[in-house]
Order: sequence, then structure tokens, then C-alpha cells
Amino acid sequence: MPVESLKCPNCGAPAAANAACCDHCGARLATVGCPSCFGLMFIGQQFCPHCGARADRKDAAAPAKPQPCPRCQTILEAVVIGSSHVLECPHCEGIWTDTETLRQICADQEKQAAVLGLPTQLPSNEGLDIDQQIRYLRCPVCNTMMNRVNFSNISGVIVDVCRQHGTWFDRDHLHRIVEFIRAGGMDKARAREMEDMEEKRRRLAAASRPDAGQNIDLPPMFSGDMRHSAVFAVASLVRDLLDR
Ligand SMILES: [Zn+2]
Ligand SMILES: [Zn+2]
Ligand SMILES: [Zn+2]
Ligand SMILES: [Zn+2]
Repeated sequence: MPVESLKCPNCGAPAAANAACCDHCGARLATVGCPSCFGLMFIGQQFCPHCGARADRKDAAAPAKPQPCPRCQTILEAVVIGSSHVLECPHCEGIWTDTETLRQICADQEKQAAVLGLPTQLPSNEGLDIDQQIRYLRCPVCNTMMNRVNFSNISGVIVDVCRQHGTWFDRDHLHRIVEFIRAGGMDKARAREMEDMEEKRRRLAAASRPDAGQNIDLPPMFSGDMRHSAVFAVASLVRDLLDR
């Protein structure tokens, strides 16, 4: 995956999003999330290079008990990005959101997508996660292993979920989720969920007929806890969103 190019806030020269300092002027560079699209931007940039939103970020009071980054064990920092309270890893730049905050972010993004009427083509997931070694992560709150979930089943963005406490997004993954939602991804996920349920119902009906031969297995890509937790995640999210 090519490294995204941003502009140095000091001199304006192009700089890679993962650069530690500007090749041109030597200014120290660090990325933060945009308050609107959660895309990467450099500290010191006034506007997001992806969506044009004004930088809006405040430090927040640290949680009572320090929470380690699930990916690299660095202590997470509490920040307010726009109106979202999240924990951020200063080292690997992943983001932890509690369940309610994520629900709010998704609901806000869906509202914005409806207002803006953005294109309905889902972003491409080419190259995403393929080079990443699969490793289960522990919830920073309760320390139990989290489920790896394909967000909304169809986004192609893998997140780590503790059902009780929240969701971990690796660097830039929350931005991809936002792009997915803005492209109408939640509607498509709900439609797919309905199809899946209908398909399951048909299989059950077929299997309970007296002449039914052997059990029909689910396709392998849906096997194990991945399928289970992904359905859980999208089902609860969909329920929440429809309830509003
Ligand atoms: Zn520079
Ligand atoms: Zn943005
Ligand atoms: Zn980290
Ligand atoms: Zn937990």
C-alpha cells in the first residue's frame, strides 16, 4: 500500500504520513486524526487535507486507570477529536473507542452521508490488512482477547472488538470506516444482513424437510468466531441505528 502523502505544515513540502520529520525543512512531524473524517493530518495543519474540516483536537483527562495500547502496550492518551472522546496510542496511532462513542460516530456519519448525498461506490479495500500478521489483541479495559471482526461484515476493514468495552482501530482504520459509511456502506450492510437471514431461513426450512440428506455447512469464510462476532457486531449496530 503506498504511504499517503501530506504537506508539511511548516514549509508546505510533500511529506509521507509516516515521516518523523520533514525532508525539506526538518520540522518534526506527527499525525493526528481529522475531527470529521478521522483521516490522518499533521499536527499544526489547520485544515484536513482529505475533507477540509478545521483541525479540532483537545487533550482530555486521562482515565482513572492507565490503559495500555492493545497493539504496542504504550499507555493510551485521552483526546477529544471534534466531539468524540477517544483514547489514542501516541506510538502506533491506533484509536480505541467505547461502544457508545462508536455508535455516535457511525450515526453522525450516516446523517452526514444522507445530507451530502455522496457517491454510492464503496471505497476499495485493495491491499488492506493483507500484509498484516493476524494477531489477537487484548481489550485495554478487561484484558480479555478481543474478536477480530470485519466491520459491518462487508467493509473489509478488520477491527478488534470487546463486546463489553469497545473497539480498537489500527492506524487509519477509523478513517476507512468513515469512508465506508459515507459511501452508503451501512445501508448495503443492512441489505446484506437481510439476505443472509433469509438465506439461513431457507436452509433451515430445507434441512428440516423429511427428505433432507446431509447438513448444509456454512461457507468456510463464515466459520468460527469471526462469523459469530461479525454478525453480533453488525446486528447490534443495526438495531441501535434503527432504534433512533
Ligand atoms: Zn517542511
Ligand atoms: Zn477530514
Ligand atoms: Zn500502540
Ligand atoms: Zn473488555
